Order: sequence, then C-alpha cells, then structure tokens
Amino acid sequence: MAFFRKHQQEDKPSVPQEFLDLRAAIEKARLPEHVHPAAHKELEKLEKTDPSLPEYTIGLTYLDYILSLPWNRYTDDNLDLKRAAQILERQHYGLGHAKQRVLEFLAVRTLRSNRKFRILVVDDEEMARANMEHVIRKEGYEVRTAANGLEALRHLQDEPFDLVITDLKMEKLDGIELLQSAKQSPTPPEIILVTGHATVDSAVDAFAKGAAYYLTKPYKLDELRSAVHRILEKKRHAQFTRGPILCFAGPPGTGKTSIGQAIAEAMERKFARISLAGLRDEAELRGHRRTYVGAMPGRIMSEIKNLGLKNPVLMLDEIDKIGQDFKGDPASVLLEILDPEQNRSFRDHYLDVAFDLSAVMFIATANVVENLPSALLDRLEVIQFPGYTETEKSRIAQQFLIPRQLIDCGLSDHEVRFEDEAVAAIIRDYTREAGLRNLEREIANVCRKLAFLHLQQGDQGGSVTVDSKIVASFLGPRKYRHEIAESANRVGITTGLVWTEFGGEIVFVEAARMRGSQQVILTGSLGDVLRESAQTALSYVRSHAESLGIDPEFFHSSDIHIHIPAGAIPKDGPSAGITICMALISLLTSRPARRDAAMTGEITLSGRILPVSGIREKVLAAQRAGVKTIVFPGKNRMDIECLSEESTKGLEIVLAEEIEEIVNLVIPARVADF
Ligand code: ADP
Repeated sequence: MAFFRKHQQEDKPSVPQEFLDLRAAIEKARLPEHVHPAAHKELEKLEKTDPSLPEYTIGLTYLDYILSLPWNRYTDDNLDLKRAAQILERQHYGLGHAKQRVLEFLAVRTLRSNRKFRILVVDDEEMARANMEHVIRKEGYEVRTAANGLEALRHLQDEPFDLVITDLKMEKLDGIELLQSAKQSPTPPEIILVTGHATVDSAVDAFAKGAAYYLTKPYKLDELRSAVHRILEKKRHAQFTRGPILCFAGPPGTGKTSIGQAIAEAMERKFARISLAGLRDEAELRGHRRTYVGAMPGRIMSEIKNLGLKNPVLMLDEIDKIGQDFKGDPASVLLEILDPEQNRSFRDHYLDVAFDLSAVMFIATANVVENLPSALLDRLEVIQFPGYTETEKSRIAQQFLIPRQLIDCGLSDHEVRFEDEAVAAIIRDYTREAGLRNLEREIANVCRKLAFLHLQQGDQGGSVTVDSKIVASFLGPRKYRHEIAESANRVGITTGLVWTEFGGEIVFVEAARMRGSQQVILTGSLGDVLRESAQTALSYVRSHAESLGIDPEFFHSSDIHIHIPAGAIPKDGPSAGITICMALISLLTSRPARRDAAMTGEITLSGRILPVSGIREKVLAAQRAGVKTIVFPGKNRMDIECLSEESTKGLEIVLAEEIEEIVNLVIPARVADF
C-alpha cells in the first residue's frame, strides 16, 4: 500500500505547481470576504483528492468557475437622459407611451443616484461637534449640527436625514434614547454612536437597538470617513435598486426586446435575454447542487459569467409562460430573483455561495400579465406594448425593417425601393399578426431573393423597385384570405373578437339545432368560463324567446350544438357570451347574421352586456380581418375614446348596454335589408 502511494506521488509531479497557480489565482481574484474561504476550502479538498477520480475534475471546474465570475466587475451607468431619448427614438417608431415610461424610470434612477446625503451631527462638546462637521462637509455631504439630544429631535421632526452621528453620553436625552426616537420616524436615518466610554455591553446594546456603527473616542478620521461612506453607499444602493421591475407586456413582435436592448445601450450596460417559456424546474434558474452528476449553474449565473459583468440588463422573457408543471412555486423563485432586498445574496445551488444580483437591471416581458400570480404582479410596473395598425406597420417596415434587411442581404449599396403597395400586400396577404415578426421574416425573404436574382443575372447595378407583382412572384400564393370580405352571411354563424397572447383575433361561433333531448353540446376546446357563457346565452334566449320572435318550445325535442373553431386551440373567458347569444338567435329565427359585424362582451341572464378587456387589440384584429361594424359593451366607452383615429379608421363602432339593442343590427330582420 505504501509502495502504491509512493508511486502515485511520483506520477504527478506537476500537480503541486497547479495548486500553487490556483492559490495565486484565488489571491489575485479579489474575491468577496465570504467567497475567499470557500475557494480555499475547495482548494484544500482538491489537494487531498486523487486526480484520477471524477471529484477532482468536478472540484477543479468549480474553482475555475468561482474564479471566472465577475465579483467586482461592473460598468458605470450612463444616465444621460437626452442621449437615452435619442437612442430610443432613433431605433423605434411610435411607442410613445412606452418610451416615456422608460425615460421616467431612468429619470428617477438618475435623481436618486445624484441626491446629496444629509447628515446630522449631535454632540454637546462644541469643539468635537465643529471638528466632525468640518471633516464630513469636506466629503461633500450636507451637514447640520445639534448641541444636545432634544435639539437633534427637533431637527429630525423638521426634515429627514440619512445619517445621524451622535455622542452617546449627553444630558437630558442620551444617544441611545435619540436613536430609539429617530428609528420611529417615517424615514428613519442610519445612526453612528460615538463614545469615549466604550464597553462591549454598550456596543452590543446599541447594535441591538439599530445602530449602524459604533465609534470609540478618540477615533481616527479615516475610520469616521470610511464608516460614513460605507453606510451611505449601502443606502444609495438600496435606494437605487428599490422600486418596481419593468415588465413589458404585449403580443409577440411589438418591440419589447428591442426597447430592452435600447435601454441597455443607453445606459451603456451589456444585455442578455433569458427565456422562461416552458421552464419546468427551479434548478434551470438556480442551478443544480454539485452532488448531482453533470451539475451546472443556473441560467442567471451562466449569463452573468458569459457577460463578465455584475450589472448587465437581463431580460426575463415570457414570465407568463413558465411551464404549468413547474416544480415549486415559480412566483416565489422569481420574486427572490427580482427583489433587491433578497437578491443581494442570491444563492445559485451550483455556486453555493451568495452572489450579489442587486446591480443587475432586470426587465421582464410577458404576453398576457393577467395570468401572473398577484404577488409577482405587485412587484412589476407593467408597460403595455399594443399591436400595430396597418399604417404603423408600413411605416416601420419602410423606415426600419427594409433598410435593416437590405444591409443584412448585402444590398445596402444598391438602390432598392419597396412601393407602399408592395409593403401593404406583404402585410395583408402574407401576415396576420399584431406585431412585426412575420412581416420582418417575409421582407427578409424578398430581400434574399432579390440578392440571389441580382447575382444570377450578373451584377448590373441600377435600381430596383419592388411592387406587389414582385412580392407575389417571390412569396408565392397568398397565405391569408380576408375571411370576412370573402364569406357570405349564414344562419347560426356570428363573428366574435377575442384577445389572446398573440393579440386580438376574430373567431366564428357556429350554432346548430337537431332533433334530440334538450342537450347542449359544446365543442372547440372550450374552458369552463366559456362553457358557462354558452349556458347563460341559451338561458337568455329561452327566457326571452317570445320577444325575440322564437318559438318558446324550440328546445322541447331538440339538442343545441355550439362550436367555436379552431377546435385544437384551447379557448376560455367570458367575452364570447354576446357572440354565442347572437349565433343562437340567428339560428332560432332562421335569419342570417352579418359576417362583417364582430362583437365582444360578457352577458348576464337578464340581457345586460358587461365590459371586457383587450379593446385595442380587438379593434386591430377587426381591421385586419376586414370587419365593418364592431359591437362593444357600453361600459367600454372610455377604452374606445382612448383609441387613436387611425386604429378605428373605416370601422363603425357601436356601444350597447343590452342584448336587445343589437339584435336587429347583427341579424337584420329581412335579408332584403342588406
Ligand atoms: P418582442 O420582443 O415584442 O417579441 P421584438 O423587439 O423582437 O419584439 O421586435 C420584432 C422586430 O420588430 C424587431 O426587429 C424590432 O426591431 C422591430 N420593431 C418592433 N417594434 C418596432 C418599432 N416601434 N419601431 C421599429 N422597429 C420595431
């Protein structure tokens, strides 16, 4: 055995040098106080481990990982608001509301970080007081003085202070009593106690009561300065990172990522995106413990390591899409990551020592925030990114998407112009979306084909104008039809407007009656709320049959079937109530319903129409599909009034409080009325 050990040692002469290098690297890395011992412990463990064992490689990789993290590396923020505004403006059309909110957010950060701290110096000895005042004022702080505890209290009542430096022994009201009173104030200051009679007990007592530091006379000026600096920087940091986390909400392709990148560019921080869609396990965010085979750090720490900085902008993409079968509570994990109080000591399971994430600027994105847990929603400042109208899409395409794609395809030196008609054709016939993703894809497609043709025909220079004919020949048969304009009015089929994570959409509700035994059949992957809306609609029609001109016995020996295509997509929510109701009335009165009249609204048994959400997205969807008239609940009047003229162009908008108000509009009495 001894022989074996001896040989083993002789076999690895290079190992000690490796350890020496590691030790030197640990010293050089300026690791934080709590990480340094952990790194040394790992190194000691490694020294005792046989290099042929897997534990050796695991330990080595771990040490390497610790040493490669940016514990102290960060960039200085550029908080120049004018520059930020220019960057946002230069890269984005419209989005005025979002840009404004982002700038306000940056303005608050700037003001908070520029604020001068106010310090109150309390001492009954005039010389001591004046000395301290002089030293601290020289550091650039705003200073007031008080000659005793009572005077200090009066100052504290009049104005807020960030820090009070007080003598402990004073007549009438001593330092500890002052500390206790000050801590009761709505904006409690930090307290440094100064005394010439320090005892362990009095120091312990002071800290227990909330003092931030304890200074013993005679103190060194450097000690005073560094204590003040440390305490106030901590406070500045807390104030700087406090406040809500921005959450950009809207359908895909509406510019959320792009604005996030612009914020990073404006602040001169690095940017990375972490997609949370379909996340199933907390470990994907927080890493696996090293006891697992193949353990790895979580995505947050991986990004930080890749970026090499501790203060990037990290975009947590699609926080509403965390997998249904997530192990653990996604809200609490996210809250821990997003909350600056908690994320100061974020513990990745792999890393196993705390890493301060509070300098990271997190931005969340979501398609629909309504589904987020309320605890999480409370911490977020939601900024809506609505869908674009056709005109907005055209302008963005001409100003941003086409020039960018031309550069990407190497055509920037050539004179290529897209006619407005060609862009409109791409938007109408090849895309159906609230955002711009497919539009950008199709434009890229056209540009690629242009590049190919260009080379095939020999580079002849000259200019090219892309018109709708070229678009049709490049992109093939159109992908989307105008469902509304191209379909006839039918009995029992109505047009509804729904709001999904992809923006607004139109749906057709179909109702049919057949001989049967009073059954209601509901199909089309309908959720519980939607099913109940259908029941309510049927009960309304049954109870108002006579006034609607329907045979009151219609249900007697019938079954009613209600179907909402596309059957494979799950649907829910109460807003289709009115559409189902109109489909039933159309069916039972045998009068065709207008295909070009779309509606949305929750209904009650007595026939009232209740307000719904997603108004702008629904209006845009109606416009895209060629709807002529939209029926909205009367209570949505405010939302309608907030819409721009452009988004309602060509649409008749009808506001209704009761179902009966719109029956004749949607289902005209005689076909000849059309
Ligand atoms: P999201 O993150 O909302 O899914 P993106 O930010 O990825 O959307 O946007 C998709 C594309 O559309 C990007 O190329 C982006 O630059 C562009 N885009 C979106 N909104 C605008 C806008 N208002 N102005 C200019 N370009 C835009």
